Amino acid sequence: MQIPILGLGDIPVDVLKKLEDMLNGEFSKIRIYAKGVREIPEDTFNSFRDQYMAEGIMDEFHKEGIQILVTEEDIYTKGKNYVFGEAEYRGPALVSTHRLDPTFYDKERNEDLLFKRLKKVLIHELGHCFGLDECDDPLCVMHYTGSAKSVDDKECEFCNDCQVKISTEGLPLG
Ligand SMILES: [Zn+2]
Ligand SMILES: [Zn+2]
Repeated sequence: MQIPILGLGDIPVDVLKKLEDMLNGEFSKIRIYAKGVREIPEDTFNSFRDQYMAEGIMDEFHKEGIQILVTEEDIYTKGKNYVFGEAEYRGPALVSTHRLDPTFYDKERNEDLLFKRLKKVLIHELGHCFGLDECDDPLCVMHYTGSAKSVDDKECEFCNDCQVKISTEGLPLG
């Protein structure tokens, strides 16, 4: 199975390539490839909040099946002030680097940390694309994380329960 990564807006192609390399080391049944960069749908921008609405962006790509969308813009969903990512079952997985970047919290630039976080959020959202739910295990990559610290606190791995679901349902996340 092939899954494209598409950048939305001002995202360097290098970032997509790096994610491609990082994710391809994770899964044996999925091939991830950087597809290119497209404009972010401007009608999803909420000027009162200075953020883009995740559901609106995902609607645009809904018909294209599972793909990874990456943006540097700040995103929110109905009922949440911000999200790191959002996903649709058998649809797109959208992730934002905005609040995963240490510089957002006035910390020093740290690419390694940023990509470590991005990888966890991406794998989490891909899990949702294949039907996995939020997981109670605080170390599991499917655990809900609402802060950068809680992303750092969890691991990049599926817990045993999630792994059982992956293998019994034959999901290509192994
Ligand atoms: Zn989730
Ligand atoms: Zn789990």
